[in-house]
This record gives sequence, C-alpha cells and structure tokens, in this order.
Amino acid sequence: MTVAWLGIGANLGDARQTLKDAVVCLAQQHTLTVLAKSSLYRTAPVDAGGDDYLNCVVKLETRLSAHELLALCQRVEHHFGRERPFRNAPRTLDIDILLYGDAVIDEPDLSVPHPRMTGRAFVLVPAVEIDADLEIPGRGPASAFLAAVADQRIEKVKPMCQCMGSAPVAAAPAAAADNGNNIANNAGAGSAGEPGMPPDPAPGRTCR
Ligand code: ADP
Ligand code: MG
Repeated sequence: MTVAWLGIGANLGDARQTLKDAVVCLAQQHTLTVLAKSSLYRTAPVDAGGDDYLNCVVKLETRLSAHELLALCQRVEHHFGRERPFRNAPRTLDIDILLYGDAVIDEPDLSVPHPRMTGRAFVLVPAVEIDADLEIPGRGPASAFLAAVADQRIEKVKPMCQCMGSAPVAAAPAAAADNGNNIANNAGAGSAGEPGMPPDPAPGRTCR
C-alpha cells in the first residue's frame, strides 16, 4: 500500500458539485481508500484565463502503481467531461498526482512529485491543511513553500452543509476534536466545523 496525494480542481460547470462527486467517485474505488480531504478553496487561475477555480487535495492509500493511479485519475476526469482543447484550458475536472509515497518519477507521462506543486497556493494550502508536517520527497516541507505563493489569491469556501456542525457527536466523541479532514470520522462530507451551527442538520438539506 502506498499513500498518495491528489490535487483536484475545476472551473467549468458546477465545479463545487463536480469536486464533491469526484471525491465520492474516488472513495468508491475498491483499489484505494480515501484517508482525508481538504476544505474546498476558491482560487485565481494560475498561468491561465477563465473563471476562478475550486480546488481541494485528497490523501489516499492505494495498492495501484503510480501509472495505474494516473490512469484512474484520467478515467475519472473523462467521466466528468474533461476536454483538452488547448494547454491550461478551463476544465470540468483536473486530477493530478501530487505525491506517490516517497517516489520520485520523471517519465514523459508522469512526473512525481508534481513538478509545479511547490509554486501553487491551490495545492500547498489545502495539502498543509491536511498535514502541516507534509514532506515533499527531495524538496523538503511543503509549508516552507507557502511564503513564496502568498500573493496568489486563495480563500476557503464556507461549507454549506449543516452536518459539519461543531457540536460533539454523542456516538463518536473523537469527532469533536477532529479538524474535519479525517474521512473516517466525518464521511468526507465537508471541511472544518463551523461555530454556531446547530447540531442536527435540517431534514433534506443538500450536503454539497
Ligand atoms: P495539467 O498539467 O494542466 O494538469 P493535463 O491534466 O491535461 O494538464 O495533463 C497533461 C499530462 O500531464 C497528462 O497527459 C499526464 O500524462 C501528464 N502528467 C505528468 N505528470 C503528472 C502528474 N503528476 N499528475 C497528472 N498528470 C501528469
Ligand atoms: Mg492534470
């Protein structure tokens, strides 16, 4: 089993719903286990035009090889209507492999660690949210690159779902101390708990 990190982004269509559905799609794969997801972030396009992006980062454990994981990411992208009319074109869904264990891969179709991850706030900020001590093989702590991308616009998207309320859950007291990223504790429905949210979600409230 290998721990891998994916960077997920979208800026075409209903990007928020696509990101949520893509994480669910990944979580349903029997070849991997989603360990954590970051909050959603609204970010300015980097090296591209078009609308703002929504981005998140997912940490997973998989028995797939790095190339098999890339193929899976591309299948999921395709499933969500990804097209590549030109480089850095707006996209319904982009899934990049950021890290694959300690592997350093430099092949024509796969570079890991992702060569541009240290220069992108939309990768570094959500990754460090999940793991403040994240190490990038061959490059050092991810947090060390944050200062250099501080000029890139990025804001955390407030979760719409009331199931992320801050009240302790009686059956799972550990959840009260959780930062919201642990899929095992929160089923991956959103991000950090919002102060003042009621403990019981309204019936029928859409979780997105
Ligand atoms: P972008 O670089 O904007 O994400 P694409 O998603 O269209 O562009 O990917 C272009 C190519 O990048 C893919 O065909 C893939 O083979 C290659 N690639 C190289 N390294 C990676 C990686 N770490 N994750 C995802 N794709 C990668
Ligand atoms: Mg990509």
